[in-house]
Amino acid sequence: MELIEYNYNIDWSSKKVLIVEDDSFSVEYLVEVLAETNIQIILSRNGLDAVEKAKNNPDIDLILMDIQLPGISGEKATILIREFNPDIPIVAQTAHAMSNDKETYLKAGCTDYLSKPILMTDLFLTLQKYL
Ligand code: MN
Repeated sequence: MELIEYNYNIDWSSKKVLIVEDDSFSVEYLVEVLAETNIQIILSRNGLDAVEKAKNNPDIDLILMDIQLPGISGEKATILIREFNPDIPIVAQTAHAMSNDKETYLKAGCTDYLSKPILMTDLFLTLQKYL
C-alpha cells in the first residue's frame, strides 16, 4: 500500500491502542499509518472480543472502535466496556457521520468519533488529543 510520507515526529512507543475493526483493508491502513509512531497495537475483529481484550488489558490507553461489527455492534461493545472502564478514551470510527448518529455514539459512552474514510491528519489529531 502506498501512503504519502508524513513525519509527525510522534513517539507513542509507551502507548497501547486497541483497534476494533472487522474490515481487513481498514485494519491494514490503520496499522500502516500508525506504524511510524511505534504505538503498541492490539487488534480485535468483533465486539465481544473487543470487550474481552479491553478487560484483559487494563493498560490500554485508547480504543478505536468500529461501529458496524459482526455480532454485537461497536456501540453495544462500548456500553459493556464502560461498565468496567469508565475513563478510557473510546473513539468511534464510522461511515455514518450524521449528527444524530454522533449523539448515539456519545450517549453509548464514546469519547469522540472519526468519520470513515479516516484521514491520516484527523486520526493523528484525534489520538494526540487523548493519548
Ligand atoms: Mn465494520
